[in-house]
Amino acid sequence: MRSNGKLDRFVVIGGGISGLSSAFYLTKEAELRGREAHITVVDPSERIGGKINTLRKDGFVIEKGPDSFLARKTPIIDLAYDLGIQDELTGTNPAAKKTYILHRGKLHPMPPGLVLGIPTEIMPFAKTSLLSWGGKLRAMLDFVLPASKAEDDESVGEFLSRRVGTEVMERIAEPLLAGIYAGDLSKLSLQSTFPQFREAERRHGSLIRGTRASKRKGAAAPAAPSRLPEKLRRSMFLTFKNGLTTMLEALTHALSEAGAESRIGREAVAFRQNEAGEGQAPYEVLLNDGEILEADGIIITTPAFNAADLLEPHIPVDALRAINYVSVANVVMAFDKASFGIEFDGSGFVVPRSEGTTITACTWTSSKWLHASPDDKVLLRCYVGRAGDEAVVDLPDAELAEAVRRDIRNVLGITAEPLFTEITRLHRSMPQYPVGHLTATAALRARLRANMPGVWIAGAAFDGVGLPDCIRQGKEAASIAYDAVAKR
Ligand SMILES: Cc1cc2nc3c(=O)[nH]c(=O)nc-3n(C[C@H](O)[C@H](O)[C@H](O)COP(=O)(O)OP(=O)(O)OC[C@H]3O[C@@H](n4cnc5c(N)ncnc54)[C@H](O)[C@@H]3O)c2cc1C
Repeated sequence: MRSNGKLDRFVVIGGGISGLSSAFYLTKEAELRGREAHITVVDPSERIGGKINTLRKDGFVIEKGPDSFLARKTPIIDLAYDLGIQDELTGTNPAAKKTYILHRGKLHPMPPGLVLGIPTEIMPFAKTSLLSWGGKLRAMLDFVLPASKAEDDESVGEFLSRRVGTEVMERIAEPLLAGIYAGDLSKLSLQSTFPQFREAERRHGSLIRGTRASKRKGAAAPAAPSRLPEKLRRSMFLTFKNGLTTMLEALTHALSEAGAESRIGREAVAFRQNEAGEGQAPYEVLLNDGEILEADGIIITTPAFNAADLLEPHIPVDALRAINYVSVANVVMAFDKASFGIEFDGSGFVVPRSEGTTITACTWTSSKWLHASPDDKVLLRCYVGRAGDEAVVDLPDAELAEAVRRDIRNVLGITAEPLFTEITRLHRSMPQYPVGHLTATAALRARLRANMPGVWIAGAAFDGVGLPDCIRQGKEAASIAYDAVAKR
């Protein structure tokens, strides 16, 4: 409640994890500031959660969108504790640490010591059958090539080719990093995706030396004070035993307890800024059914192309239009263990573009995550679609499933009939940060601060696509938007 007895009204546009965490942390900001907020979350889908979508079926926990998160990124762990669902967290199967890369139709173990595709241990790298001797020697030139003095952003592909050569880039780094962005590395901004690569070059004169140094520093540093139980601290990835939807359920519950409202199945189509004046809300958000929501603050957490439509009447949105989105799909297949015929010794494999398969990666889900399937079943998740190869996403179900089965037959020898197959298409779902993204986003946000105090943009389109990055942005957005509202 403000001094004039009114509530602080916020509209959060977008009900994905960025929007829900913005809304949740707005309730926390209100508590901290001793004020009362009224929050409305708007989303046109028939369900809340955006990309997060867990299917619980026949004892399986099937993720149709994201499936886990990097444990070292703490905002999501903090959120789990804030919501009281920390006991639901689970780690990967310690016996399934191995991952593979497909090369000339055969699976090769990833050489130990790779950090984001960069070798940090020379012997396993020298021995790997994934690269030619020429490719390995070219990578070693990284130790002697001078560091670039340029300050400008560049593409990840340009940088990696410059430092470790195209073979390491194409055969190892690209398929690994593509798992995060499904992107074309020659277009992806280095500054906005892997700034630590450039930092390693700048400080150590070599990407390999720099990556090795930060790995050693990480190992030597006392374990970060973590609230997580010891067992979970050893897992690089974490998720929730009953699926990531657990987090959505807890957020929805906390928001409804805090009196927040939602408009699910409705879309924000525009917003208006009003002249400052007695009795007038600073902003009004118009929904597609004609409802108008009065707002003191607005947090926009939609994909960039939707945010551009909403912001275009107010400010230049070139930075948002420049973010291209790639469509992907995943094909999940369940099998009976008894007739499957294969024991997995790892968590799956990734596929370089040059292999020409339909699938870009395959997770051996039931081996990587023990909670995901009943003991007598096997669950596989295959990924298709990446920048430059998106048409495959729209193949009819039967054709797509057959293409995927052909690949796993050829690579793994799997001939068993699946018990069921679940196909999920995620159109325009993977934002590709273009070169210069960081500067362009900062300029856009500076304009918002100056011209529309209380309006903010956050989410996967801006400062990181990972779930923890989205939650961090939601928390920051809540604080920034509330600061502006509280100043009025
Ligand atoms: C296939 C896939 C796998 C992934 N795997 C992982 C993973 O394992 N780990 C990980 O950390 N990250 C992963 N990611 C990334 C992560 O899932 C996303 O970056 C994150 O979920 C995005 O959350 P968000 O809230 O920013 O956006 P979204 O989830 O896209 O939510 C935005 C919401 O805005 C709504 N919206 C759009 N227009 C309007 C409008 N006009 N009015 C109101 N609402 C609107 C949409 O309906 C949507 O619900 C994956 C992404 C994909 C696509």
